[in-house]
Amino acid sequence: MKGKNKKIKIVSPLEVLDKRRRKRESISGIQSNFLDHCFHVGKISYGCRNCFIGSKYNYSFCLGSECNLNCNYCYLDSKTKEGRISEKQIDNGIAEVYRRSLFPDYGENGPHIIGFTAGEPLLNLQGLERVMKELKEIEKRTESRPYYKVYTNGTLASKEVLKRLKHAGIDELRFHLSASNFSKKVYKNMEEAVKLGFIVAVEEPSYPKHRKKLFAMLPFLDKIGVKHLQLITLYVYPHNISHICFDHPNAQFFHDYRFHLDDNGLPYDIMKEVLRKKYRFSVLDCSPEVHRHNYSSAKNLFSADPKNEEKDVFYNPFKK
Ligand code: SF4
Repeated sequence: MKGKNKKIKIVSPLEVLDKRRRKRESISGIQSNFLDHCFHVGKISYGCRNCFIGSKYNYSFCLGSECNLNCNYCYLDSKTKEGRISEKQIDNGIAEVYRRSLFPDYGENGPHIIGFTAGEPLLNLQGLERVMKELKEIEKRTESRPYYKVYTNGTLASKEVLKRLKHAGIDELRFHLSASNFSKKVYKNMEEAVKLGFIVAVEEPSYPKHRKKLFAMLPFLDKIGVKHLQLITLYVYPHNISHICFDHPNAQFFHDYRFHLDDNGLPYDIMKEVLRKKYRFSVLDCSPEVHRHNYSSAKNLFSADPKNEEKDVFYNPFKK
């Protein structure tokens, strides 16, 4: 495989995963669940449950592909971005959740997870509010309250916007800090979100170029009161690989369930630091193992009897 006159180095997934395993096993305190598909420190976000336990009632609203930032590793290809979704597409999503809510077992094994993604979902705040208004009606009828999470780069999450999200009924906000180069403004917005009572999480690509800033971020997350940190093994596509190679001239890639950048086990270095400093937020390695589990039928096995694994893994804000 060739990039711009440069060979791209692809290595065996066994080699990469074994290297990661050896690093993980050298650190005491890292927990393993879901038959070695979930490596974490502390109770992870309830919003991550849909990657581990299957349910036909989880749902994700993608509010479009427009974004106010421009990360060079973005999973969206700027050439094929379609922009904001239409009112009709929003209606279709609501209708789908409504249809599913009519099943007799809708209220079981919940709360179900409803996510809002995009691009940047806060560019379509009105659309999000419209969806939430309808979902609240479904909640009343079914007496089953889902867990609502929103992914955001955080730059538009001003106090006014946060209040609107709170009023709409959102539970968790997932901030992507590196998108704004870890801007002070986003840290401030996160702090405000904690004060307003959101469960605040940070979700970051496990990008070696950000290593220093990711480590520098950790004490701030603890101080602000961030609850969860997710570190994702980067997805590599034809449209972002040359940018990644530019950032990492010695990068190597591997093919597991998807095509990834080898991060040299960066999430485990971060977990080690979190354990050493006794920071209070959880950390999840959103690794190729998670992706494999998420897209496998094995996930549905856990929906039948989730009690065993689930009790030690997820932080459930609804449980008293
Ligand atoms: S903030 Fe997210 S959607 Fe926007 S450019 Fe970065 S990765 Fe892409």
